[in-house]
Amino acid sequence: MELFDVYPLYDVTPVSAKGIVITDDEGKKYMDLYGGHAVISIGHSHPHYLERIKNQLDRIGFYSNSVKNPLQTQLASKLGQLSNCEDYNLFLCNSGAEANENALKLASFHTNKSRVIAFTNSFHGRTSAAVAATDNEKINAPINKQQKVTFLSFEDFEGFETEIKKDDVCAVILEAIQGVGGLDEPSGIFYRQIAALCKKYGVVLIADEVQSGFGRSGSFFAFQHHGIEPDIITIAKGMGNGFPVGGVLIHKNIKASYGLLGTTFGGNHLACTAVLAVLEVLEEENLIENAHRMGIYFKEKALKIPQVKEIKGRGLMLGLKFEFEVAELRKRLIYNQHIFTGGAKDKYVLRILPALTIKEKDLDHFFSGLINELL
Ligand code: PLP
Repeated sequence: MELFDVYPLYDVTPVSAKGIVITDDEGKKYMDLYGGHAVISIGHSHPHYLERIKNQLDRIGFYSNSVKNPLQTQLASKLGQLSNCEDYNLFLCNSGAEANENALKLASFHTNKSRVIAFTNSFHGRTSAAVAATDNEKINAPINKQQKVTFLSFEDFEGFETEIKKDDVCAVILEAIQGVGGLDEPSGIFYRQIAALCKKYGVVLIADEVQSGFGRSGSFFAFQHHGIEPDIITIAKGMGNGFPVGGVLIHKNIKASYGLLGTTFGGNHLACTAVLAVLEVLEEENLIENAHRMGIYFKEKALKIPQVKEIKGRGLMLGLKFEFEVAELRKRLIYNQHIFTGGAKDKYVLRILPALTIKEKDLDHFFSGLINELL
């Protein structure tokens, strides 16, 4: 059997990783400034994470959601405390798309409506309603196009009010900082206006924090920079530091009932342990504060590079916009400088999404590699 060939691959085969360093099968070392699409939050193979997961594996790795699992309640409590979201309940699942799928479904159950408002250049995943709310024709199959989704631009105040008034909208879904799209973010005023109109018209506001959450933006959630309170928050990626896990934070105003949502694997013992370990390290090592500080340091350094036309993002969710498409630059950074970076839907944006443990000297190393390749 061969693999279903959907991924264009770089010619690198990682065999081990520690912190922000990846080692390939020839012993070459690479600096990881991308974390496999923003997944590595506390660094590869963090000792506390390894110890926690190994110990848990020796006890019990999995049982389904038909029995009690105190790790889930511990996780919900710790997450509520660290994120300052104690007015929410937690549903655990397995990926970002699944988190958004459940969020949209809940919004539809809650309002008994079905149209969704999403935003230009959004990315919310590849499953049914999540992909329909993703602004990319190419990954929407005819079956997904049956969903009713209206795409609006950030800052289109008038368009937003016209659409939300129509009384058929169940949810507004947005990334506080767009990831795949290329690091655009709505203004605080637009964000607050959306939140106010959602309240006024009884529409569920979903903050997709799959990429920006868990401290990456320099606060626990990126929407917290704007002082609003979404009805639902979705999480994944950095949450498990590589363990496949996702979650939905649901405001207590939205009531649960048996059977409303469900999953076989979601919230299993190993997944909960991985997330608990991530939360413990984020707290113990002050990593959210570090993300904030390193983001400022990065921007100061990027300002000095004339080829950089725009510096985008917050904390350690960053993008550098150039006047040229960055695909070749990314290749040269990998093969010549041994540095992993990311691309975006906006082909001119280089994405930088390192572990939140990164230090100034690592960013200095990145900038000298970048300058070498820009010469
Ligand atoms: N939402 C956002 C903002 C994302 O960036 C992604 C993945 O890139 C997803 C959802 C989908 O997550 P997953 O690939 O875990 O399904």
